[in-house]
Amino acid sequence: MTIRVLDPQIVSRIAAGEVVERPASVVKELVENSLDASASQISIETMGGGVILIRVTDNGIGIPDGEVEFAFDRHATSKIGSLDDLESISSLGFRGEALPSIAAVAQVDIITCVAGKSSGTSLSLKDGVIENKGSQGHPQGTTLTVRNLFRRVPARLKFLKSPTTENSHIANVVSQYALDFPEVKFTLFIDGKVALRTPGSGQLIDSVIEVYGVEIAQNMLEIRNDSKWENGAVYLGITGTVGSPAVSRSNRGCLSFFINRRWVNSRLLAWAVEEAYHGLLPQGKHPIAIINISLPHQEVDVNVHPTKTEVKFQNEHRVFGTVQKTVRRALIELMPVPQIGATATTYVSTPEPRQAVLTSPSDSLTSLPPLAPQTPMVSLPTLRILGQLLSSYIIAEGRDGLYLIDQHAAHERILFEKIKHQRSRQEVEVQGLLEPVTFEVNPKEEEVLKSHYQKLAEFGFSIEPFGDKTYLVRAVPLVLYNKDWAGMMRQLLDFLSGGDWAETIAMSIACHSAVRAGQTLTDDEMDELVRQLEQAAIPHTCPHGRPTMIRLSSGQLEKEFGRS
Ligand code: ADP
Ligand code: MG
Repeated sequence: MTIRVLDPQIVSRIAAGEVVERPASVVKELVENSLDASASQISIETMGGGVILIRVTDNGIGIPDGEVEFAFDRHATSKIGSLDDLESISSLGFRGEALPSIAAVAQVDIITCVAGKSSGTSLSLKDGVIENKGSQGHPQGTTLTVRNLFRRVPARLKFLKSPTTENSHIANVVSQYALDFPEVKFTLFIDGKVALRTPGSGQLIDSVIEVYGVEIAQNMLEIRNDSKWENGAVYLGITGTVGSPAVSRSNRGCLSFFINRRWVNSRLLAWAVEEAYHGLLPQGKHPIAIINISLPHQEVDVNVHPTKTEVKFQNEHRVFGTVQKTVRRALIELMPVPQIGATATTYVSTPEPRQAVLTSPSDSLTSLPPLAPQTPMVSLPTLRILGQLLSSYIIAEGRDGLYLIDQHAAHERILFEKIKHQRSRQEVEVQGLLEPVTFEVNPKEEEVLKSHYQKLAEFGFSIEPFGDKTYLVRAVPLVLYNKDWAGMMRQLLDFLSGGDWAETIAMSIACHSAVRAGQTLTDDEMDELVRQLEQAAIPHTCPHGRPTMIRLSSGQLEKEFGRS
């Protein structure tokens, strides 16, 4: 799109305001412009906390010769053209405000060159007024230099902090974009020294290494979730990486959120992530997390605040829940067995070498295998059964201490994996009922059952329509025979809608066929249950993400009994 001044009608709909609050805001706007220009390399130089000089050089598409001046007109942008475009903003910029706002409070020079040209266009502005236009050699891309920021706005200058503080804001902005765009090579020079350099490999972990260091990077767990919403159309994708509780921070400065690649602040998302760490981090500690969310543009409004860092979701509940669950699941699945009464930094994992073994913050880092961003595998130590507690928990001894296993949660996990496995191989074990049973449904249940009874067949239910709001059940999955399968079906119809129905059905069957809490088990039954749990792919949690077991280490026992 060419650069055009926006229609006044659109301007009135754009959250207006000054975008240049401090040097870091200039860096943010310029880096966003470079990213919008599809740059794969962006270099940022600053002097004197950004007040003396900020220079951003990119290898993006450049600005055509005849359009450079327009870029400095208020509300001139190449990124949106109509009101409709406001509804689906995919670029980082769209207000056409940054360059004129910066030029109004500093001295600006730009040299820009588009593909196929041997020389670029140069333009100098002082107090927003164009002083010179010329041409100058420049590879494809744009170099924008901002000098003497706020020199003529003493009120702003007065509010700036020390150059060190301003530098740290600048470094933070560049770090966030480096995490946001791992495929872009970023270099930040502060007062002539390299403060950050990322390889642009496209791997998030490589950016994490440069921004937070190798030690933190070794303690990050990958997250991923692709969820379809009710109508099956809306997609909420989540990718990123979150810190194991062993690497927490004492403030929220290490929570990064990107929505459709826009860096945003969101109290809602921060809260969702912190909720996911509930019980895993001590009071006053905060996680490290980098969360990328992708969702349809109509589902999120970025036009809330002039700096575009705040967003509004159409469905806050849904976003909150999905983020919280995704992070929680990663933490629980990838983490060692929770230790009774342990603080988050003293997890001791089961002795599998492939697993991220964290004993304490200091020695964990040296005992780790060479950095590999793969998902750690989970497995159990061999357990010797000692007995049953409260008819609900199996007590066992493992290599390093005492284990308490929640018999229902453990059995649910075993059955859940078995059911999914059998279904995928079309080997579901079915039990025919002695007499077919009629199953009556209300209108709402009927709607759901109508569209799902064939799917239920994949799991071993033989159900057929039998007149008005009545179905005939001829067979049920073997695991549910003699159980309350009708109750299970009713409950299932209640929450089975779009979404991942297969997962929901498997979970429901597992839950209803698993041994209950309060059920006395024989030694052989307990033994069998634990053997099967040892075979499970994810033995540490039930399908809902609750732990199947907790551990009291021998070290803790010694401590509790005053032996150490
Ligand atoms: P916005 O980003 O909201 O469109 P800006 O004032 O930041 O507004 O930029 C105005 C226009 O100048 C942009 O729409 C874009 O066309 C052009 N522009 C700015 N920076 C660059 C750059 N680094 N590379 C290519 N074009 C740029
Ligand atoms: Mg911009």
